Amino acid sequence: MGKKCVFCGSPITKKNGFNSGKQLYKCHTCGRQFLDTQRIDLQELYSLYSSGKQSYSQLAEDI
Ligand SMILES: [Zn+2]
Repeated sequence: MGKKCVFCGSPITKKNGFNSGKQLYKCHTCGRQFLDTQRIDLQELYSLYSSGKQSYSQLAEDI
């Protein structure tokens, strides 16, 4: 099982080379790439989402 995607939470990811010396992963579910160290503050994300300021997809784009 791969690392969980930081965008959609899918475990179907694979290593996809390196970026600035950091491990890069690619998600097979949503097709996005993310770094091993990249994190999303889920509580903050949820508060923005639930307050209706931005849609979930827009938030993902900002990250
Ligand atoms: Zn994904």
